[in-house]
Amino acid sequence: MNVQLRRSALHRASRLLLAACAGVALVACSTSPTGRSQLAFFPQGELNRMGLAAYEQMKEQTPATDSDAKRAYVQCITDALIAELDSRDQRRHDWEVTVFEDDAVNAFALPGGKMGVYTGLLDVADNQHQVATVMGHEIGHVLADHGNERMSTAFATSAGLQVVQIIGDDGSPQRAQILGLLGLGAQVGIMLPFSRTHEREADVIGLDLMARAGFDPQESVRLWQNMADASGGQPPEFLSTHPAHGTRIRNLQDHMPDAMEKYEAARQAGKRPQCSL
Ligand SMILES: [Zn+2]
Repeated sequence: MNVQLRRSALHRASRLLLAACAGVALVACSTSPTGRSQLAFFPQGELNRMGLAAYEQMKEQTPATDSDAKRAYVQCITDALIAELDSRDQRRHDWEVTVFEDDAVNAFALPGGKMGVYTGLLDVADNQHQVATVMGHEIGHVLADHGNERMSTAFATSAGLQVVQIIGDDGSPQRAQILGLLGLGAQVGIMLPFSRTHEREADVIGLDLMARAGFDPQESVRLWQNMADASGGQPPEFLSTHPAHGTRIRNLQDHMPDAMEKYEAARQAGKRPQCSL
């Protein structure tokens, strides 16, 4: 997508924000996949267009890996996870994953199902199950419409109103904030509200998804352990915007019995993904 289109997507969103400012009647609530009520001002289509615009910009700024093996590996894992979504969720988003050549231990997801993984993360994730942990988590953010909730929450505060005035102005800190709200927080150095709730929810959705796809849910705990070990005291970007290690592991362990049941059922049904690097 060129700059013109990108700006027009953001301008559409800007008009939408202004319209919502003018009429409280547009205020909307929805329910997340784990049963939490959440703010959702934005029509899915608008959010998806903004997500796509941010994604195209990301692709212009960061080179994709030229390793076919890495691309195929991540695609294989992502496909196995997406196959487990119900047909509505498969259709509701235009799922896509890009492997970016960058040492950062990081991944992200944008509204509309546009996701990114950095090659640095592949150095830390030991096997397909651990990469599935990250991809399941990212898919969880999309399924739970976290981008919409963050944008809606920011909009509902005075900070959000300031954003409205400057949206579409490339290079402004406010534009970085919009990108952060959409899901590129670590990339633009923005710490977001509600991140703990969102991270916990994405972890739970991801754990369930990986188990149903036949990836070993217990590897999720090892992945986060590897992340902490790899950091050597300095948290990797991905961890710095994510919950404390112990809290995350406890949350995963709480949901592990259920995940293991689904994992065993998946294996018995012949779901044994063979994605390798
Ligand atoms: Zn996350």
